[in-house]
Amino acid sequence: MSDTKTYSGSCFCGAVQLSVTGEPAAMGYCHCESCRRWSAGPVNAFTLWPPAAVQVTKGADLLGSYSKTPQSIRKWCKTCGGHVLTEHPTMGLTDVYAAVISDFPYKPGVHVHYQETVLHVHDGLPKLKDVPKELGGSGVVLAE
Ligand SMILES: [Zn+2]
Ligand SMILES: [Zn+2]
Repeated sequence: MSDTKTYSGSCFCGAVQLSVTGEPAAMGYCHCESCRRWSAGPVNAFTLWPPAAVQVTKGADLLGSYSKTPQSIRKWCKTCGGHVLTEHPTMGLTDVYAAVISDFPYKPGVHVHYQETVLHVHDGLPKLKDVPKELGGSGVVLAE
């Protein structure tokens, strides 16, 4: 018996479906300009998973892909335009947008790239200037 949980998600129209299994490596909000411009929203709610934990179960052929930098491969549904996930090969993690996996119990723990924020959030969570030291960042915490 295993207590490993699987959660399902989909794009805006439902043509692309995926599942995530287990526990994410991290959850939080990204305030970087890249996330903002790509998503057209002020912040991005992320859940980061080992790539093997993420399975596209339907519509994989409908996923569009775009890389502005080698750090991020951004994928969306070509039918509805809904964003689905971003692979971060250099981090070895895949960001499945929290909004995509609606039945997943999202518990944000950190804000990253807060030096680029346009939406200050007063929720008491740590606000990292960029990213944690373990991921090559400064680890510096900023005021809310
Ligand atoms: Zn879609
Ligand atoms: Zn970002």
